[in-house]
Amino acid sequence: MENQVFAGGEIGVSSPDETGTVSSPQSESKGFTSLHNFGARAMRDVRMKGFAERADVEEVQDFLRGQIRSLASEAVNLLSCVGRVLAEDVRAEVDVPGFARSAMDGYAVRGEDTFGAGAYDTIALGVLGEALPGKPFAGRVERGSAIRVMTGAPIPAGADAVVMAEVCEESEGVVEISEAVAPHKNIGAIGEDIRVGDLVLRTGRRLRPQDAGLLASIGVRTSACVRRPRVQLVITGDELLPAGSQPEGPRIVDSNSVVVRSLVARDGGELLPFEILPDRPEIISEALRGADADVVIVTGGSSVGTEDHAPRLVAELGSLDFHGISMRPSSPTGVGRIDDRLVFLLPGNPVSCMCAYEFFAGPSLRALGGRSREWPHRRVRLPLARKISSAVGRTDYVRVAVESEKVIPIATSGASILSSTVRADGCVIVPRELEGMGEGAEVEVLLYDDEMPAEVTP
Ligand code: AMP
Ligand code: MG
Repeated sequence: MENQVFAGGEIGVSSPDETGTVSSPQSESKGFTSLHNFGARAMRDVRMKGFAERADVEEVQDFLRGQIRSLASEAVNLLSCVGRVLAEDVRAEVDVPGFARSAMDGYAVRGEDTFGAGAYDTIALGVLGEALPGKPFAGRVERGSAIRVMTGAPIPAGADAVVMAEVCEESEGVVEISEAVAPHKNIGAIGEDIRVGDLVLRTGRRLRPQDAGLLASIGVRTSACVRRPRVQLVITGDELLPAGSQPEGPRIVDSNSVVVRSLVARDGGELLPFEILPDRPEIISEALRGADADVVIVTGGSSVGTEDHAPRLVAELGSLDFHGISMRPSSPTGVGRIDDRLVFLLPGNPVSCMCAYEFFAGPSLRALGGRSREWPHRRVRLPLARKISSAVGRTDYVRVAVESEKVIPIATSGASILSSTVRADGCVIVPRELEGMGEGAEVEVLLYDDEMPAEVTP
């Protein structure tokens, strides 16, 4: 039964329905569609009371899918377009090459002049001059003559073939040719690479290095790409010291922003400058209200503690569409909106923070930027070395190592144990329909990396 559960979908979702294509990005300046009234039930102040009810992971993901369209397009310079998503089709306005060119170093000739040439019966042609790439020969190749040409040089008028240098011997203005060449041979025709009007790249394409190269070759300077979502981090916690500090007594170093900023970069978001904020409602409120962003990601203070202000503030300033999700870790996650900004409330515990990001914020950022919501790394299917216990009704994010073609769940399951994610090669999602997964069951591992690990000798 596990076999069907993970086919293709984004993290935690069993029904793949995303193609990652861009839906009319120009028509939407912001990525959100009409409002749904999910907010009401979350408005009650849950502090120190716990969640009355929790939403299913799929419900939240469906909501986010319904909210998000890819952002509008912007002109992106050719030299920074790799990794960006095209917002419109690109057609060539020129032929490449725009002239017939030599595919060889050799001699441009009239093919018929070489007919009958052989090793013991060479044909001699007079060499009139030379054509180099970018430096054409001005004259014409008349019967009985040849022009020395290099690869990429324009074929001179009158010539219709190139004899390769290997079968030629030139001395004192005459070339002896020992092999015949048929007309059109060794000549790259106008438009052999790209023709005027060709659809070279389609809307929705995530540009690769060679795509940018091709754009350069057809004379493109900027291309219309989906705008990158602007992301405001709101890192909250009185106990936090900035990354790079030494932990000190009861104060810990903010690691969440270090993780999240890299995940945001991976997912194509543009990170705005941010600071660590104290657990003071007026300060958090100001940060939430003032953010000039498409997406606001709050970490810490998302739960039901006395210092957990963000959920109430989001509900007051906009709508708190979900708060409390049936998943482990990350159950105190919230999702809401303030004006046209999507707000994610990620729990402060580092594993929960990362997990909630991967389930909700990551796919949303990718979709805003015109990318696929799908898990952005490799996946493998392998048998479990030990069973995983879960509970029906709850979605679990289990860190696993992959060793000797087996999937080993990492024993430390605490949401505060960041090192569990470092020991892990990836995660296995136990969907809410399952009580767990048995030893030997084939599971899908969402790997944290794309490359195969290299053998590194210190
Ligand atoms: P909270 O969600 O604010 O209740 O925090 C839960 C746990 O996560 C607490 O132990 C916090 O100290 C810790 N925590 C909160 N924010 C961060 C952060 N930015 N980096 C590392 N740990 C954090
Ligand atoms: Mg806190």
